[in-house]
Amino acid sequence: MSLFKINSSRLEQWLQDFAQFGKTAKGGVTRLAATNEDQQARDLFVQLAKLANCEVRFDAIGNIFARKIGKNPKLAPVLTGSHGDSQPQGGRFDGIYGVLAGLEVLYSLNDQQIQTERTIELVMWTNEEGSRFTPSMLGSSVFTGLLSLEDALNKTDVQEIKLGDELKRIGYAGNGDKCDYPIHAVIELHIEQGPILEQENKLVGVVTHAMGQKWYEITFGAMAGHAGTVPMNLRRDALLGLADAIITVNNIGYQHNPNARATVGRVQVIPNSSNVIAGQVTFSVEFRHPSAQMLENMNDSLRNQLNIIGNKHNLTLDIKPTVDFAPLTFDERLVNIVRQTANNLGYAQKDMVSGAGHDACHLSKIAPTAMIFIPCIDGISHNELENITQNWSEAGANTLLNTIIQLANEV
Ligand SMILES: [Zn+2]
Repeated sequence: MSLFKINSSRLEQWLQDFAQFGKTAKGGVTRLAATNEDQQARDLFVQLAKLANCEVRFDAIGNIFARKIGKNPKLAPVLTGSHGDSQPQGGRFDGIYGVLAGLEVLYSLNDQQIQTERTIELVMWTNEEGSRFTPSMLGSSVFTGLLSLEDALNKTDVQEIKLGDELKRIGYAGNGDKCDYPIHAVIELHIEQGPILEQENKLVGVVTHAMGQKWYEITFGAMAGHAGTVPMNLRRDALLGLADAIITVNNIGYQHNPNARATVGRVQVIPNSSNVIAGQVTFSVEFRHPSAQMLENMNDSLRNQLNIIGNKHNLTLDIKPTVDFAPLTFDERLVNIVRQTANNLGYAQKDMVSGAGHDACHLSKIAPTAMIFIPCIDGISHNELENITQNWSEAGANTLLNTIIQLANEV
């Protein structure tokens, strides 16, 4: 079987070029969805895609599609890509690496004068991070019909600016919303955003599953009071509930290992004053697990334990679920092709469960889908220090190239 290689130095140059858009002092990027920085990245992406003789369009939620037409354009296309936005003070590879590696695949096919049977469609998704507009994975939610276009366009940022208005302002409010054509296969390439591949000295992660997620907003209500005058035995202190709850959430994570994740990441204290006993505390709880049953057990355990904690400290309790994603299994046939391709290329590889949400998770609802991971240094992501080596970048892009050639030649 013949194996094809991408041009690693060209990909490296693009990664550097795109890292200029929203560049931060410590070498990361702040490139939130539909900002001027996002527009700069989009403009260059469109320009480079056109230079590769792609047909470029964007839909009404600003997802950009670049099509390299196949010999038989009537066949369902193979789709690849990732997102162009970042977290605030985020990394310069999260998302954009999958977009630029896809672009490199198209350029490599041109260099090697390969026209596949099927059209290849490269996508840059809008607002995957969810840091400016919630929910995350917003562009792919609209494309897959999980969120209506109208709802998505009306989402506002903290300054009450609508996404729809921002897309018009930066020139990326196009036409069309839900996907109205069949897709043969979807492959998303992404950095791992965790430490496992690097620790185990693997070049490629073959993503078999994505974790389910349950998020909550919990509120304990108590009685605010003077820190100097209310004796200890007469207090109702909301922060005592929080202290117990944080330990409990952490324990629930350990009790459902391996593969459980349990996090309290955000806390709001009212009134948040050093000489006032806290009258109310609201905090986030986030559970992830690849097993739906285990996630359900974590949910039950959380509810039981919070009730006990509330009673112990004489607090009112409100539990509001905010996110509920079922765990998912990626397409077995595609996963096998990715695994085989990495094998043929001689890359050390490992089957992985994605702990993060990705656009590919939504795409898997409408088309056979798989993901490829590459390592990132020390597992650091959503951080300006996020980094990868050229060797890893090249391995991921070569796996993507050969996987796509195979899929796009299936008739
Ligand atoms: Zn990402």
